[in-house]
Amino acid sequence: MNSKHDVLIIGGGPIGLSSAYYLLKAGRGVTILDSNEIAKGSGSGNAGHIVPSHIIPLAAPGVVTSALKWMLDPNSSPFGLKIRLDLKYISWLTQFAAACNEANVNRALEPMKNLGFLSADNFAKMIVEEKFDCHYQTTGFLNLYKNQAAFEEGKHEAEFMQKYGIPVSVYEKNKITDVEPAVRDDVLGGVHFTGDAHLNPAIFLQLLGERVRAMGAEVFENTPVTGFESAGGKVRVVKTSVGEFEAEQVILAAGAWSPIVARDLRINIPVQPARGYSLTASAIQNMPRQALILGDRRVAVSPFGNQIRVTGRLEVGEFSTMPVPRWIQRLEEFAREYIRLDEKLDIKETWAGLRPVTPDGMPIIGRSPHHSNLTVATGHAMLGLSLGPGTGQVVAELVSGNDTAFDLVAFGMERF
Ligand SMILES: Cc1cc2nc3c(=O)[nH]c(=O)nc-3n(C[C@H](O)[C@H](O)[C@H](O)COP(=O)(O)OP(=O)(O)OC[C@H]3O[C@@H](n4cnc5c(N)ncnc54)[C@H](O)[C@@H]3O)c2cc1C
Repeated sequence: MNSKHDVLIIGGGPIGLSSAYYLLKAGRGVTILDSNEIAKGSGSGNAGHIVPSHIIPLAAPGVVTSALKWMLDPNSSPFGLKIRLDLKYISWLTQFAAACNEANVNRALEPMKNLGFLSADNFAKMIVEEKFDCHYQTTGFLNLYKNQAAFEEGKHEAEFMQKYGIPVSVYEKNKITDVEPAVRDDVLGGVHFTGDAHLNPAIFLQLLGERVRAMGAEVFENTPVTGFESAGGKVRVVKTSVGEFEAEQVILAAGAWSPIVARDLRINIPVQPARGYSLTASAIQNMPRQALILGDRRVAVSPFGNQIRVTGRLEVGEFSTMPVPRWIQRLEEFAREYIRLDEKLDIKETWAGLRPVTPDGMPIIGRSPHHSNLTVATGHAMLGLSLGPGTGQVVAELVSGNDTAFDLVAFGMERF
């Protein structure tokens, strides 16, 4: 098979599907290739948090110290590090450690805010326009604390965020049960990012996949991209397990697998996987009212109508998507420390997925420096769902040669 296409998207996760949606709206022809099923990758079992408040990138001051401290406590650590003797991986770790500074945060704040706010607006519009019934709730995102020093730090961060126009309220112990009755008595308080939202990502992605098919996207599932042919500064052929595809424009949105997919292209995509887990259970008696993050445990809790999901752990360098039972059990135990779970949870699903992480913690959204028809959109780390519709819009603008909603230079590949 050798077929010709307008825009070919590699990867049908939150980034690929959002790009497809905005390209189709702009009148482009779209073909999606996925090695698996679309809407099922690293997005479906995640926490579903839509968090424009998250303008501080993963690479920030104190992260390396916290990671080292956590690693001394391997049974409870929210962080893990795979040991791999691979030069690219070691170079990535070194670059990440070097980027954990204030200058990196200052560089990221404005672009992350632009992308996060655009994305949150696009979610709100898309969900109304497309009538997506996916438990979308604009009840904010509440950080809970049981440790006074961490709570003080949280309040300090809240003040900082307010200066950047992020709406936030702080609740002391005497008020926290008014905003979240599901908390345990020893929770000291919380910081509530009231502009944030959450939804059930599996339902949202399934509906988005169905919508892009209905809008005319051709979808090839179980069709892994195996290589490329390039000539004259362009990608000429995309090779797959079922034959070759030619396209005017190619978008690489294969999440944590992007560097592997792109190895023929000789471009530098410094992305490493960071595995995380989730468990999904039937609704509990004291359902939380909003999306939660549980202080030092760094565990997220999301209420999805008749279900509750608990997610967590960040295991850098780990490529397997097998959930590890010990960590699933730890997630439940950590959640019990903060909220009143039922004595026995009716667990429906356990899951693991890979966050695609860059060394500076910012996504890559931009043209390949060596291929005029290749756009790379990956590296969204913990925010690939949240930043999906914003990324999709700017990718569609870039591919169509239009002005983008904001300057994308901070997200460009040239920064590496
Ligand atoms: C535990 C956990 C909780 C999270 N919580 C949140 C959250 O609350 N909010 C949030 O915004 N983000 C969250 N994330 C992060 C989010 O899930 C990711 O950032 C997001 O899935 C990345 O989207 P993507 O489209 O870039 O990649 P993916 O979702 O990984 O999609 C990539 C697609 O590419 C396909 N692919 C791979 N190789 C090939 C190939 N050779 N050929 C063709 N296709 C290929 C894959 O099958 C997959 O469908 C969480 C992640 C985890 C693990």
